[in-house]
Amino acid sequence: MASALSVRQVSKTFATPEGGTVQALIDVSLDVEDGSFTVLLGPSGCGKTTLLRCVAGLETPDCGEILLRGERIDDVPVWKRRVNTVFQSYALFPHMNVAQNVAFGLQMDRLPKDEIQSRTASALAMVRLEELAKRRPSQLSGGQQQRVALARALAKRPEVLLLDEPLSALDLKLRRGMQEELKRLQRETNITFVLVTHDQEEAMAMGDQVAVFDAGRIVQVGAPQEVYSNPRTRFVADFLGEANLLVGQSSSDGITVTGFGRIPAAWITGSVPKSGSCTLAVRPEHVTLDTTGSSNGEVVDVTFVGGDLHVRVRVGEHLLSARVPSDSGLKVSDSVAVSFRAAKAVED
Ligand code: ATP
Repeated sequence: MASALSVRQVSKTFATPEGGTVQALIDVSLDVEDGSFTVLLGPSGCGKTTLLRCVAGLETPDCGEILLRGERIDDVPVWKRRVNTVFQSYALFPHMNVAQNVAFGLQMDRLPKDEIQSRTASALAMVRLEELAKRRPSQLSGGQQQRVALARALAKRPEVLLLDEPLSALDLKLRRGMQEELKRLQRETNITFVLVTHDQEEAMAMGDQVAVFDAGRIVQVGAPQEVYSNPRTRFVADFLGEANLLVGQSSSDGITVTGFGRIPAAWITGSVPKSGSCTLAVRPEHVTLDTTGSSNGEVVDVTFVGGDLHVRVRVGEHLLSARVPSDSGLKVSDSVAVSFRAAKAVED
């Protein structure tokens, strides 16, 4: 079956007002499965919004192809693409009430009156805003305005819904609530969602698939858990969750890290280069601290975080993060033997 959306080797360069150029997208390819929730994740300026805008038809790629259900849409004008975008700013019409805002796009499409009414009503019900249909945007909270923007896009029944940092204007608590709401909407409508965010927790919580961007390129795509557990590069390991990064020299019996010592092959999951310089990524939950036996580290900080202890431990010149159960009884100045349950070799 064709993907709902396919991006093939798309590049985009912008001329900057300063007289230079920016490569916003470099040879980007991505497949988005029908009815899935894909998150484009990366730091500010890495090209996520540019990709979304290319798919929406608001930017023209320099090269490459964009396909919707197997058909090229590169030359299809914005208003004819069966994709809709929800912007960070919501972009609601201030002089129209909620229902009018939702109905507007349907009127532009010249749908029959009763169809407009029923689609507007069901979109408002989906986002639970029926009661507020007569209000103007200025009489709504940020979260409610966000729902109107969503209802407006959903009412159009797009094949793909593009969401550009839709939750970034909301406070943390509201954002978590809206994340669940968006997941629910995606499941209920079975519309393909593509959401841009720079918040890795948001990406992990929402995406069936996460595409990690680094400086104009997609560096890894996969299920959140898969990308978290098997980061391909140092950047991905560091950006998605927390990681201890150790640079060492590889040999047949493990990796030697200056100031730490030898990391035996048994501590490492996955493949390791046979020789040469190599970077290891170790998640804090994969660091083991043992107070019995011969020590190689010292606890320098202990914080209680969400049911666990977040421990900083010094080993030689390295300051490592570890997450251990709160009943481990560790305290500052304790001597510990530091070992790893799962260290992964990553590309630089
Ligand atoms: P953010 O999370 O901050 O929105 P982003 O990952 O979405 O960032 P883009 O908005 O896609 O990043 O921008 C990618 C790069 O392209 C940036 O360096 C940006 O300055 C540049 N850029 C984007 N649009 C233009 C434009 N119209 N003209 C010139 N440069 C642009």
